[in-house]
This record gives sequence, C-alpha cells and structure tokens, in this order.
Amino acid sequence: MRALVTGGAGFLGSHLCDALLAQGHTVLAVDNLLTGRMANLEHLKHEPRFSLEVQDISEPFDFGAVDYVFDFASPASPVDYLNLPLETLKVGSYGVFHSLDVARKYNARFLLASTSECYGDPLEHPQPESYWGNVNSIGPRSVYDEAKRFGEATTMAYRRYFKVDTRIVRIFNTYGPRLQLNDGRVISNFMKQALRGEPLTVYGDGSQTRSFCYVADEVAGILKLAESNEHLPTNIGNPVEFNMLECARMVLKVTGSASKIAFEPLPEDDPKLRCPDITKARTLLGWEPKIQLEEGLRLSLDYFRKCVEEEKAAQ
Ligand code: UDP
Repeated sequence: MRALVTGGAGFLGSHLCDALLAQGHTVLAVDNLLTGRMANLEHLKHEPRFSLEVQDISEPFDFGAVDYVFDFASPASPVDYLNLPLETLKVGSYGVFHSLDVARKYNARFLLASTSECYGDPLEHPQPESYWGNVNSIGPRSVYDEAKRFGEATTMAYRRYFKVDTRIVRIFNTYGPRLQLNDGRVISNFMKQALRGEPLTVYGDGSQTRSFCYVADEVAGILKLAESNEHLPTNIGNPVEFNMLECARMVLKVTGSASKIAFEPLPEDDPKLRCPDITKARTLLGWEPKIQLEEGLRLSLDYFRKCVEEEKAAQ
C-alpha cells in the first residue's frame, strides 16, 4: 500500500509515518513545515520507502496514485492555532477538500484526523461520539474547532456524494516524544518547566480535566480504525481523567523536580472537562490504551530532557 500522510512532519503525523512504514507500506509525507519539523523525519532520511513533499495542502496537490490518504495537516496546539488562525481555517477547509480530491481521484481510502475539540466545552461527560458538542462558533478557539467540524462535514459529503471510502477519528489529548517543547500544550509546558526548575504554570484553579493518551497507543488505535469498516466518527483517546493540578504533580514526580506551582489566568473558552467515552473503540476495534500517564511521561522524559539541553546550549 502507498499511503499519503498530510502533516507527516508533525507530532502525530510523523509517528503515523513510522507505524505505516513498520507495517511494510510505502509512505509519502506532505507538509508545509509551518508547525511540522524536519527533525521529526530525520531518522527516515535513508528509508527508501519514505519520501517527503514540502507543500501547503490548502493549495491543490497531486503526487500520483495512492491507496490511502491520512489527513493530519493542521496546527493543533492552542498556542499554534491562535497564532495561525487563518492558516488553521484554510487547512481545515481547503486542505481537507484537496486531500479528499486526491482520495477520490485514486479511489483511495481516506481518514480525517478530527478532534475532541468538536465537543467544545462539553455538557455531556464523558463524551460519546453521539454527543453533538458545545462549541462557541465566534470564540478564539473556533478557528480550530469549527474547521475540524467543517472537515467532518466535508468528509461525510464526499462519502455521500462521491462514494469516497472515508474514516473519521476524534483524537483526544495526545503526548509523547516529538511534542514540540514550545508548543504551549500542558504536557510540553510542565515537562519543560519541571526540567528547568521553573514554576509549573497551572491555568485557572487547575480543576479543569483532560485525559492524556500516549502517542504509541493513539497511533495504534488510529491504524485499527483505518483498517476497520467503521465510517462514522470514532473517539480514540485514553479515558483516565486528570485535573491539571494532578497532572502538574505527576510531572513533578516523574521528573523528580522541586519546581513550585504557579497559577495563571484560564484562557478564554478553555473546556472545563474532557474525557473520551471509548466504548465504541473497545467493542468495534478491540482497542484500548495500554500506557498510563505516569509510564508515558517516563517514556517521554529523555526526549524532553534532550530538548531542554539543546535549547540551553543554543542560548
Ligand atoms: N494548561 C495549563 N498550563 C499550561 C498549559 C495548559 O494549566 O501551561 C491547561 C489548559 O488551560 C487546559 C489544559 O491544560 O485546560 C490542556 O491544555 P492544552 O493546551 O494542552 O490543550 P487543550 O486540551 O486545551 O487543547
């Protein structure tokens, strides 16, 4: 199988490329390197089954026949998409159209990387796929949330009207090696701060919750969905929920850091609770995450330590 991965130089995209290569496939990554990084693909430099095209998928593209299109291109951390609002809207709309056009042209299966952000600040908890969400369409986060919701609608329309064979995964907070040190996400911030001996910045009172999935688990779930016959949105995430104070304490424990905790204002429209209901993934795909937060943070420690050291050396 020849698979095309948009956003292939990103955090999740690059891990997906690795997993597809490990399964024996040929992989073409497409990325405009706006938030993706060559460093994430450095280890594939001499892999003959791998290639990269530097291309913005918000413009039409065609790199020949493929059997699968994984559409993973988008700024994805709140800091990134708030800095890149129009790029985020474009890649989540035009970009999805163009990726679907490739899938349609070559009769390829298509998988959209959607998000738990489709549920917004949820009124149902945990969130099953049947929940329609509570998104502020004019708030600052809407550039990402609404783009992803629009992407789901576009995907379903191509399925209905053009018979494209589609899948939609709703990805919940994921972490692990290759998460960018300065992308502003909570795990990268806390790990960086703990390793530097700086205070861990907990936003609000730290009672808001997230459910963190280790990247290897996330990618395994995505591939299972890709291979399945399920075309309706499917949550892939870890259902073990932590509030941000608990998360900060876990990072302190894993890093052995003596950093203090500092409270900072809560960003606008920050979801108060988030936890996937993964009944569907469990029953339909036989998938559930294996690595819990403490172990996953330990598995990520060397990577974050290296990033902090490299940054220090460059100063
Ligand atoms: N957060 C925090 N301190 C930080 C960064 C984030 O307390 O330094 C909180 C943030 O307010 C949110 C949660 O951690 O409630 C997860 O934030 P993140 O940016 O990782 O992703 P989100 O789930 O909001 O997309």
